[in-house]
Amino acid sequence: MDSSNIIRGSCNCGNVAVSMTKNVFPSSCSLCHCLNCRASSGSLFAVNIPVPKDAVKIEGTPKVYVDTGGSGKSVHRHFCGDCGSFGLDEESCGKFCLIGQIT
Ligand SMILES: [Zn+2]
Ligand SMILES: [Zn+2]
Repeated sequence: MDSSNIIRGSCNCGNVAVSMTKNVFPSSCSLCHCLNCRASSGSLFAVNIPVPKDAVKIEGTPKVYVDTGGSGKSVHRHFCGDCGSFGLDEESCGKFCLIGQIT
């Protein structure tokens, strides 16, 4: 695959990385201010970028915290167990990963 067509980001220590092709990266994102996103992101809001789950490649082995979202559905929050960077949220619909603080 042409590497210039790939968006890649990693956690603070580099042990967990995510990548996807540019064509699946949306032009807009949402900010979630719910209490759980605030706690997970360590900020007043989480930046959620919806991308198709199948289009995201994960390198490394993130830890997963199964959380319950405001809708009552489960959210799998993936983060680096070494540096603690919060990376992906997997929605219970299985359709999207939401990318948090992996840059
Ligand atoms: Zn890390
Ligand atoms: Zn939230």
